[in-house]
Amino acid sequence: MEITQKAPAKINLSLDALYRHSNGDHEWRMVMTSVDLADYVHIKPAGRITVTTDSGFLPEDPRNLAYQAARVLQRESGVRAGAKIHIEKNIPVAAGLGGGSSDAAAVLRGLNELWGLGYSRERLAKIGLQVDSDVPYCVYSETALVSGRGEIVQPLGRLPQFWVVLAKPSVSVSTPSILRAFDYDEKHVCPDTATVLAGIKGLDFDLMVSGMANSLEDVTAVRYPEINALKARMLRYGADVAQMSGSGPTVFGLCAKKSRAMRVYNSMKGFCKEVYLVHTLT
Ligand code: ATP
Repeated sequence: MEITQKAPAKINLSLDALYRHSNGDHEWRMVMTSVDLADYVHIKPAGRITVTTDSGFLPEDPRNLAYQAARVLQRESGVRAGAKIHIEKNIPVAAGLGGGSSDAAAVLRGLNELWGLGYSRERLAKIGLQVDSDVPYCVYSETALVSGRGEIVQPLGRLPQFWVVLAKPSVSVSTPSILRAFDYDEKHVCPDTATVLAGIKGLDFDLMVSGMANSLEDVTAVRYPEINALKARMLRYGADVAQMSGSGPTVFGLCAKKSRAMRVYNSMKGFCKEVYLVHTLT
């Protein structure tokens, strides 16, 4: 028996960092959605947990988030069996697209099935928080308002229709180093989350876009000027909005019209090596 789980990339339509808890964790308020750029996680029964990938860059040991997810679920459920996990990696690594978290979430969903646990998504999401703050969202991988330390996931239903162009500059960003540098006493751009939510609810693309922003963007963009250059180029070629995802460095542009998205995509291809034209998942 082999189980294959799709592990889609996520983007942050909005990201607001509200405050730091006394233990250093951040309090988030984010609107997230998933796109059809995905890893594939293959899981087979085995006596112990092993992880392999086709990427060449990723650890194939307990440092891999997929391995950590399997260990946490083993511990929580008391299951003795292991699993042979293989990751077909398509999502760029350390890009702000949540690839590692999505692999971990795919392992939780896949092992829930393989081991016949019957856990709800809520329970898997809670378990996933032990691995990384984006794992609870990735257990759902559907448009949601995410709050708390990442563990409160409220699905939002359908989005207005749009196309997404992703451009990843050739730098890798360490999320912990950006979060350490984030100073709550400084002024940051903030999304208007209520407006983003109202836009989604009314399937009103323009309203959704008018509330979008990412509070981590100025911290990452100071270190990597490529980010603002990519944003400016996307806007110049017709994107309705351009924004960094997560802690970066990937920039995404949203376009209500497919012809515009094609123009943005083609213009970015000559400028940046890793560019993707994708849809949100429905
Ligand atoms: P986040 O914003 O959630 O930190 P990200 O999209 O910026 O995520 P990832 O691709 O998840 O970045 O990688 C973050 C780190 O996690 C990298 O240093 C990478 O080596 C490590 N990692 C461990 N397991 C995985 C995995 N299965 N896929 C990708 N990265 C992994």
